[in-house]
Amino acid sequence: MSNPFVSVVIDGEVAVVTMNKPPVNGLGAELRSGIADALDAANANPAVKAIVLTGTSRAFSGGADVTEFGTPKAAREPNLRAVIGLLEHSAKPVVAAIAGQCLGGGLELAMGAHFRVALADASLGLPEVKLGLLPGAGGTQRLPRLIGLEAALNVIVHGAPVPAAKFEGTPLIDQIVDADLIAGATAFARQVVADARPLKRARDLKLKDPQAEAFLQFARNTVAAGAKNFPAPLKCVEAVAAAASKPFDEGLRIEREAFIALMATPESRALRHVFAAERAAAKLPDVPDDTPLRTISRVGVIGGGTMGVGITMNFLNAGLPVALLEMKQEALDKGLATIRKNYENSMKKGKLTAAQVEERMGLVAPTLAYESLRDADLVIEAVFENMDVKEQVFKTLDEVCKPGAILASNTSYLNLDRIAAFTKRPQDVIGLHFFSPANVMRLLEIVRGAKTAPDVLATAMALAKKIRKIAVVSGVCDGFIGNRMLARYGAAANGLITVGALPQQIDSALQMFGLAMGPFRMGDLAGLDIGWATRKRKAAEASIEMKPVVADRLCEAGRFGQKTGSGWYRYEAGKRDPIPDPVVEALIMQYRADAGITPRKVNDDEVVERCIFALVNEGARILDEGIAARASDIDIVYLNGYGFPLHRGGPMLYADIVGLPNVVRALRRFAAEPGADASWQPAPLLVTLADEGRTFN
Ligand code: NAD
Repeated sequence: MSNPFVSVVIDGEVAVVTMNKPPVNGLGAELRSGIADALDAANANPAVKAIVLTGTSRAFSGGADVTEFGTPKAAREPNLRAVIGLLEHSAKPVVAAIAGQCLGGGLELAMGAHFRVALADASLGLPEVKLGLLPGAGGTQRLPRLIGLEAALNVIVHGAPVPAAKFEGTPLIDQIVDADLIAGATAFARQVVADARPLKRARDLKLKDPQAEAFLQFARNTVAAGAKNFPAPLKCVEAVAAAASKPFDEGLRIEREAFIALMATPESRALRHVFAAERAAAKLPDVPDDTPLRTISRVGVIGGGTMGVGITMNFLNAGLPVALLEMKQEALDKGLATIRKNYENSMKKGKLTAAQVEERMGLVAPTLAYESLRDADLVIEAVFENMDVKEQVFKTLDEVCKPGAILASNTSYLNLDRIAAFTKRPQDVIGLHFFSPANVMRLLEIVRGAKTAPDVLATAMALAKKIRKIAVVSGVCDGFIGNRMLARYGAAANGLITVGALPQQIDSALQMFGLAMGPFRMGDLAGLDIGWATRKRKAAEASIEMKPVVADRLCEAGRFGQKTGSGWYRYEAGKRDPIPDPVVEALIMQYRADAGITPRKVNDDEVVERCIFALVNEGARILDEGIAARASDIDIVYLNGYGFPLHRGGPMLYADIVGLPNVVRALRRFAAEPGADASWQPAPLLVTLADEGRTFN
């Protein structure tokens, strides 16, 4: 009956059952059956009087085995509820000995024991709500009985872990032990036997709270206000409410029903998708985990403008010294002042101490001389978006930087391979595309050039983690993953303006869908002059006449967005609220008249379909071309860099949920319209997947 993950040591009258399944004792099928067998054996052994169940120093158990999600193994008997039942109904006392993580199913398992002892810093929690679920193995019924209604609701609705010491004195934690957990737990078990203490079963405890109903009502109101697009938090409240008013088994049934219902919601699917997608994005199929990394201890940043400042702060925050290079003293002073101002704002909010501000400022070395970059391990360029300027910068870097230094560009659109070719070391060149504000936004697109060396890529991925970014690797193309898709989305939105919609309608439809900001508000925020300049540049590069769009007329009228007080909307001085502007409406009507277009009514569903499916279609092309390694990488880019709503799980998962055949049908409809842009043709990959009944994920 040996089990690879469970060992048993008989120590006098106590059987110590140890779970050891790296990394965190995920409660997969083998581990569950190992625990059940060990319990049965201990109960059958007349020499054993009590049982201690424990894990490793890293984890009692981190919960369900995520690798089993969605596989038949997840449901294999004994399931977690059955194992917990075995603990609870054991005739001999069971003591859970807890160190490290004790989360989700792990805590539910521990609550099945009759007693619990823990190290003070063991981390207890029920994080299921973060996956759009609730604890499905009795957690919502046992925890309130052990720590009270209000405390349990906090743990379950927020999902944040709590140190075991906080529960000392409640029936959840019978004893905190100092160093030797097993010795402490065994001694505790012996005492239970010696005192013939009655077995404390969480299910039998009475939850007495005279204020229960009033408190629950308060909780429903606050949770409903905070949970917005997610159903799980309110379901958590209802399940905990059942613990207060219903018999235990009835409560379990209510919890189970809610769990199953939540599992089927698109919101939970989205959150579980994102959980897996974030982990997947960190892996590169052709860069093994053991690729040796280059050491990065000194960083150089070129350009102290909007991006350079934010990029620099990331490294200062991580304790890495940065040489910040500008062309002129004035620009350098301005960049430095912005960094200081940002830190001082954090200080005012109580996020940093004055000493920390000085410590970080002490790590930045402003410079006007490339000589200062001689010993940098990594240099990131964030100068003007212009190939000639990039050429001059990279040629100089090639001359001054030490061999092996990583040379990175923050370019948004320019061809990284061309930039790499300005140096004699294209293998050391990589794109590190930060998003604005770079010290805040979590996304980092890592652009892999044709010649970028695997260790450079692996080093960049590791560095991203160090500066707390979520990295996604993109191949080289115009705009990489995010901005290339954004271009199609913007074109779809602009197309809708041309045929009959107004900016405020489009923004509002997409905001109802869940986007943080519609495309026109976003355009006003980013500055309309950037796109105008790009359109002019592209037309010039291709030696063609620029096809005018409505936005060009706005720019010609000096309406660049918020920074000029007007763009697609107008803005009152010092305010950021967009106000629909009759001037814009007139300008749009004139544009349509000039183009001979009779405006038609556009409904909100069409707005969402066109704009989101435009993203999906371009995403499919990006996937097909190998620019992105997986559909889920595209979702991560959109969720973390473009304000795509989390509860939708990203454009590609959204398409899967809508059904790819439906997406293809809509795209074909758009493509068949007179004068339709060729980009509405459904991408071949999308058609293939739809035809074969498959999905992106
Ligand atoms: P910016 O105009 O705010 O800053 C550019 C800075 O570079 C200026 O301070 C300028 O003085 C300095 N500079 C120009 N040439 C230089 C040189 N040869 N040597 C040293 N310094 C030089 O521009 P930005 O918005 O920070 O953009 C910088 C880069 O980041 C561009 O490639 C842009 O495409 C990219 N980017 C911008 C954003 C954004 O939202 N602004 C987002 C992602 C990427």
